[in-house]
Amino acid sequence: FDQLDGFIWMNGEFVNWAEAKIHVLTHGLHYASAVFEGERAYGGEIFKLTEHSERLHESARIMGFSIPYSVAEIDDACRKLLKMQGFRDAYVRPIAWRGSDSLGVSAPNNRINCAIAIWQWPSYFSPEQKLKGIRLDLAEYRRPDPRTAPSHAKASGLYMICTISKHAAEAKGYSDAMMLDWRGQVAEATGANIFFAKEGRLHTPKADCFLNGITRKTVIELARARGIEVAERAIMPEELDSFEECFLTGSAAEVTPVAEIGPHRFQPGAMCKSMLEDYAAAVQPKHAVAAE
Ligand code: PMP
Repeated sequence: FDQLDGFIWMNGEFVNWAEAKIHVLTHGLHYASAVFEGERAYGGEIFKLTEHSERLHESARIMGFSIPYSVAEIDDACRKLLKMQGFRDAYVRPIAWRGSDSLGVSAPNNRINCAIAIWQWPSYFSPEQKLKGIRLDLAEYRRPDPRTAPSHAKASGLYMICTISKHAAEAKGYSDAMMLDWRGQVAEATGANIFFAKEGRLHTPKADCFLNGITRKTVIELARARGIEVAERAIMPEELDSFEECFLTGSAAEVTPVAEIGPHRFQPGAMCKSMLEDYAAAVQPKHAVAAE
């Protein structure tokens, strides 16, 4: 993956993909002092680009550092890089991290670096998997208490338990894992938020200890625009059998129906279909973007 053609934007410059390197003594590598974003471009335009760039800044603020490029500069670099890469539909990954100037835990003066990579990353799940609904394991780890970790930042350190949980699920033949929060309430998947449907209404956990996804917020708006009630509330795992449908939301996952969570079964139906269709329509560029 580090040897592809094309360019990566790094600290204000476009560098060849294979040359976008960092030193092994990078603070971000040792202590996870890094924050990132995940975005998708559709038809040549990045969906909710500015919201993502703002969240990158906010994540950095929560982590106690400041990215030396404004939201507008990051937006501009993402747009330019998308054109240079020549993609209309692609995945966009900005990241910011503390550099290698010193390696103590305390490194307030280390340079803050910022990079953006764009590549073609089709849906996490194949179209067949999506329509049938994916299978989720129950993760062993729980989302941390907000007093234990900066749970509202899209911070690299929070993904340690996600990778462990996703690997464990995949080793058992599942696509992903559903994580509970520290209280034992349903939280989210390892890289996507979760929704349930029952009697024409949507239910989703209150985002009080995990990322309040941009896709989650979009889907809530789309559902309410259709007149569908959305309850943001505590959901206990004991309730899972009472729901008819379930789906995940995320910039990468988009809207992905779920058929199983451990022993619980769901039947992707009208609600999954409506939200899939509404989201697919919402992400299309609002005005035609010229192909180059
Ligand atoms: N939770 C986690 C842990 C994630 O990694 C993501 C993906 N960024 C989400 C939720 C969904 O967020 P968004 O809709 O903003 O992509």
